[in-house]
Amino acid sequence: MSAEYAEHFRALIGSEHVIEDAAEREYFSSDISGSGDAIAALVLQPGTVDELAACVRTAANQGFAILARGGVMSYSKGYVPTRAHTVIIDMRRLDRIVEINAQQKFVTAEAGCTWKKLYDALSEQNLRTPFFGPLSGIQATLGGSAAQNAAFFGSASHGTMRESVRGLEIVGADGKLFQPESPAPFIGDAGAFGIKTTITLKLIPAPPECAFASFAFDNFPALLRAQSAMANTEGLAECFGFDPQSHRNLVKGGFNLFEGAALLGDVARTHGIGQAFKTAVRVTRMRDLQYSLHAVVEGNSVAETDASMARLTACAKDAGGTPIPDTIPRVARAKPFRPIKALLGPGGENWLPVHAIVPHAEAERLIQRTSAYFEEKKARLNRHNIRIAFLTVLIGEKILYEPQFFWPDRLSLFHLRNVTDKQRARYGENAANPDARQAVMEMRQELIVLFEQIGAGHMQSGKLYPYLQNLSNVEQADIRALKHRLDPRGLMNPGVLEL
Ligand SMILES: Cc1cc2nc3c(=O)[nH]c(=O)nc-3n(C[C@H](O)[C@H](O)[C@H](O)COP(=O)(O)OP(=O)(O)OC[C@H]3O[C@@H](n4cnc5c(N)ncnc54)[C@H](O)[C@@H]3O)c2cc1C
Repeated sequence: MSAEYAEHFRALIGSEHVIEDAAEREYFSSDISGSGDAIAALVLQPGTVDELAACVRTAANQGFAILARGGVMSYSKGYVPTRAHTVIIDMRRLDRIVEINAQQKFVTAEAGCTWKKLYDALSEQNLRTPFFGPLSGIQATLGGSAAQNAAFFGSASHGTMRESVRGLEIVGADGKLFQPESPAPFIGDAGAFGIKTTITLKLIPAPPECAFASFAFDNFPALLRAQSAMANTEGLAECFGFDPQSHRNLVKGGFNLFEGAALLGDVARTHGIGQAFKTAVRVTRMRDLQYSLHAVVEGNSVAETDASMARLTACAKDAGGTPIPDTIPRVARAKPFRPIKALLGPGGENWLPVHAIVPHAEAERLIQRTSAYFEEKKARLNRHNIRIAFLTVLIGEKILYEPQFFWPDRLSLFHLRNVTDKQRARYGENAANPDARQAVMEMRQELIVLFEQIGAGHMQSGKLYPYLQNLSNVEQADIRALKHRLDPRGLMNPGVLEL
């Protein structure tokens, strides 16, 4: 079937950018969480916006479902086809930075541009976007993050990607380009309204001062109380928490030995050798931690960051926390976008997160309900040797809570192409463990239902989280009307938002 259609696209973008090979198509049709129900008929790699628009037009004329694929760092089946008559558009050649306008405070880049590329280019001019990328930003693209919404760097004060976007250009199902008046409905749509071609983000001056703090807590509720209290601290850029299993994973992953040595090089380059030495001493104590909270504060002067630090310390102490060395946030910021090892657990386990986003006041209840759920599943978790680690991230007035599953299993086609060389050599022959995998998939689905019952929101809508969840009837009607207007035949990423 592929060959039959390929010739139409070869003429548009050149043979070398039309992928027909069956094994390649199978790989391109899977994500971190595995494969879907179907393998795409073709993968197209346009190099310009015009080529992209022509590909979409031609694909739509032939009744293809059309999906964009960015940095492949998602795990909610967003770019995994639901039918064979699908073309996947690989966006990575569309990665130009179109305009950095310091005066009018915006930057426009093509959607396949990575966060790292953007960050590096802006840093040269002492500029930054307010939200400036997910932890996966060495590979994750602006388009993929806009389609999923995303949060992490800068999010404690600046919110998710949605709050940093000023404008979008999109190619719709008819192959025509348009610029929506308001970008908001198009952020977090998983590409169901069209493919983002360029993204315009707000710019701020790169903050000249940065300070770090970390605190230890005996229990999760205390950490949460502190994290909520810290919100609205002037200049708070990141504020994230770990549980004991996360610390064990970091230690087991060699954070304090091998990677630690490489990370120390980054810290030394950024902060001087003396600081790197102190960091070395500190990292080795991580295994003693129970719960930990980590914060990065930015400001225009040391006086400003000192004032914020004093506030953070007071919030932590009020909640029963104690200051600990600030190694984790310092290392995270020394080089925000580093090569990704976290596709596997520290012992080569498969890894899969699920998350919920709630207002601060709801976070404790969410965590209690989730802990009760896992308590109930203890025997099943033990039987399959499944471990759970927890992460919390402050996003303005909300808390993102992320349970992460780790279990022994084979490396998938996706893993084999995306893990590090070392991981592939070490774990490439791991035995398949379909029973554990099945258990994880079921528990992940049950958690999504539980989170829905609690009224939690989420990012990363793909085919995993129901897209319209948590919207009022009026909002749902608006979204459906928009979909109907832009994509009446339901060709753009079917499975996300059906008509
Ligand atoms: C190790 C690791 C760390 C992570 N850390 C974070 C984090 O800190 N914060 C966070 O929010 N997420 C995080 N994620 C999840 C993921 O990286 C982000 O959601 C990221 O934004 C996805 O971008 P991508 O380019 O990889 O998108 P892809 O995975 O390629 O695609 C994601 C979705 O976007 C759609 N899409 C892609 N490009 C376009 C386009 N141009 N137009 C329309 N639709 C498009 C796809 O169809 C798909 O539905 C992490 C993932 C990993 C593996």
